[in-house]
Amino acid sequence: MSGATAVLYPSHTPSSYHRVVSPTLTIPTDPQISVPVGLLACQRDPLLRELATTVVNCVVSQPAAPPAGKKSKKSVIAPTLPQGPILHLILHDTVIFPEGGGQPTDTGVIIDSDGEPWEVLQCKRDGGHAVHYVNVSDSIDVDAAVAKFTPGTKVIATLDQAAFDRRYDHMSMHTSQHLLSALLETDLNLPTLSWSLTTYPSPCYVEILRGMTPEEITKIQERANRLVFEGRKVHIEVTELDSAEASSVPTLEDGRAAGKALPQDYTGGVKRVVVIDGVDRNPCCGTHMPTLHNLQLFILPHTEALSRSSTTTARLYFLCGPRLITYLTSTHSLLTSTASIMSCGAPLVPERVSQVIDDRKRAEKRVDALETELAGGIASGLVAELNANGADQLFKKGIHRTDDSSNPLAFLNAISLAFSNSLPPSASYLCVLSSSPSSSSSAVVLIIGSDEKLVKQAADLVKEKVGVKGGGKGNRWSGKFMGAWKKDVQEATVQGILGGIDA
Ligand SMILES: [Zn+2]
Repeated sequence: MSGATAVLYPSHTPSSYHRVVSPTLTIPTDPQISVPVGLLACQRDPLLRELATTVVNCVVSQPAAPPAGKKSKKSVIAPTLPQGPILHLILHDTVIFPEGGGQPTDTGVIIDSDGEPWEVLQCKRDGGHAVHYVNVSDSIDVDAAVAKFTPGTKVIATLDQAAFDRRYDHMSMHTSQHLLSALLETDLNLPTLSWSLTTYPSPCYVEILRGMTPEEITKIQERANRLVFEGRKVHIEVTELDSAEASSVPTLEDGRAAGKALPQDYTGGVKRVVVIDGVDRNPCCGTHMPTLHNLQLFILPHTEALSRSSTTTARLYFLCGPRLITYLTSTHSLLTSTASIMSCGAPLVPERVSQVIDDRKRAEKRVDALETELAGGIASGLVAELNANGADQLFKKGIHRTDDSSNPLAFLNAISLAFSNSLPPSASYLCVLSSSPSSSSSAVVLIIGSDEKLVKQAADLVKEKVGVKGGGKGNRWSGKFMGAWKKDVQEATVQGILGGIDA
């Protein structure tokens, strides 16, 4: 996280946060058994950073080679796994959240019984178990690593500061998403089709059926922040999973699903509902803030339309908590540095930038017109010299120009075009046009002629004696010279080459 973001984290989760509402549901206390996902310590107490627990199982895994080509959407937000072996570690219980409900994996550290820290790169749900992907450094033998985590060994699962900052951001955004989706549903009858917890500190978004007006956005934001300032409480209710009920997910009129059902491979046997007091009840496995207090939901005041084959949807972007502060800090510094470049106050930046763009367009248009005019002038001069030369003589000419244009060859082409358009029909000529920037660090060369053989002869000599690389067809050839282009060396050589060629 950015150093500019000072966040005072709440210190503890109220005991009323996690409510087991079914009298028959118990949380396993046997250290040989893993607490199922849905009842993990990180889900019972989202502010808990450290937990003494026991190893239930540990196996070595050799990660599969990452698929070639495009990175998957998830790999952006989950730390990448190393090529070497890693440990798949199941603990009795954990403060490290396995990815789920749109919330990415936590990172963290497991401290072994000798007090040595082991880095947890990812945590994933497998059936009902949270599996910690533990990094094995190159200096450690894999068998020795496994021996550290024999079942029954006491360890400590922790979220270090970086891991807790990451988690705190994720749960702030996740709880905000529940609040936002609930208000969109109740106030505007707009169900959330999906949402994305993007990489920090980009705004997250919910996908909805249509764009929203600025008035609707303002209204939802005001409603949300009133609830934030009230500090509405959030709590979790868990019961045994009724499998018939588990697979139901509301569908829209056109048959599309709104929201997500429980994953098919979930075997934890727990139904978990996140309740925002008086606002929303939503099945979810994520970690959530105990209160809306301090969330400060901010909705970006526009929606982005998306078109996919047969349907059109819109994305509504939002920010909250530490991410909001970091995002505002970075966008503000971008704005003030732009304002300083434009020598104006921040509110004038859009006006000044569009003014600069308009000016530039006008200037480009003017340069184009002047170039055409100048190319015509140079060409007329060449034609006049050619006519003065006598109709039966081969006219030979070398012209070098200094030009800082990003495409100097285009201007040489313009001269060539204007020249050939105003030539007498029977003219015999060979011209070498060259151009280098004011730094003389390189040059472009264009050879044109009335006879293909003359052009080829001149091009071969320019390649050989000057070192220009290029190619051409018919009666034109162009090339590039890398290095310092000097009047008394390269240019003099070109003049010598022209002098030595006869029709
Ligand atoms: Zn959720």
